[in-house]
Amino acid sequence: MKRTNKEKPPPTDRTTRSKRVVDQSEVSNVEDSGGAPGAPSNTSKVTRKGRNAKREHVTVESEPETPVVKSVKKKNPPKDWEQVLANLREMRKDSDAPVDSMGCDKCQDETASPEVIRYQALLSLMLSSQTKDQVTHAAMLKLQQHGCTVDNILETSDQQLGELIYPVSFWRNKVKFIKKTTEMLKNEWSGDIPNTVEDLCKLPGVGPKMAHLCMKTAWGVVTGIGVDTHVHRIANRLGWVKSKSPEDTRKELEDWLPKEHWSEVNHLLVGFGQQICQPVKPQCAACLNNTLCPFGVTTMKKSNANH
Ligand code: SF4
Repeated sequence: MKRTNKEKPPPTDRTTRSKRVVDQSEVSNVEDSGGAPGAPSNTSKVTRKGRNAKREHVTVESEPETPVVKSVKKKNPPKDWEQVLANLREMRKDSDAPVDSMGCDKCQDETASPEVIRYQALLSLMLSSQTKDQVTHAAMLKLQQHGCTVDNILETSDQQLGELIYPVSFWRNKVKFIKKTTEMLKNEWSGDIPNTVEDLCKLPGVGPKMAHLCMKTAWGVVTGIGVDTHVHRIANRLGWVKSKSPEDTRKELEDWLPKEHWSEVNHLLVGFGQQICQPVKPQCAACLNNTLCPFGVTTMKKSNANH
């Protein structure tokens, strides 16, 4: 049955579209990589069946359809979190990180129709998984020059689509997911994108993190915290959560962080992770939170002991 968002009115008009979004790993939990379009694919994976049987097949998986868990209990917030948040805002006040100018909320053709803008918001999120903002932004510009609409992408060959989005990470799998998702949008959603997290998560390659970010970017509705690797890493370093996966980080954060801060936290932490709290060698000495952050306190002690 063809579903439309007209049956269920959009939560809000898109004129209130909010800021940034970031990447991540929904479409990347597949084996894919590097080589340029036309190069032999290395998406294959060897599996064994029986004693000697080796079978090679292409693995194309979307993120498991993780149910969207609503926060039901409120944990006690971590000590000093409000001061830490204020310091983060201070360190990010210049808004000069890559995410500020090339994040997924900066990748749409604002002159297009609302449906096309929403489609481009979803595509930019799919491309952004495990990919630098600069690369995602450049790929979206190429797609827009080509014609980034549902109908046009369906008419585009996989080969050409691959050439357009290369060199985003996992580009081969992203071509497959974009094509399958675009077909579903055409056949089941009248060419628009779904307007709930639950329905967005049914699209190939779209998981909860991407869905929450898409709701914010495309529909202007905050449904949850978008947790990518930056948010996951920094929230753990700060002692805001103790979690193994971005999805667990999202649940833990939503358990105590007041909802009015959900909208800003992704953008704030992604830019902070790009500029100061990098994955390797975070600049703790320059961080305003280095006396409040457990990771920073330890790092500073070690650094002082070595001097
Ligand atoms: S003190 Fe270091 S680890 Fe902690 S938030 Fe600042 S840069 Fe990151």
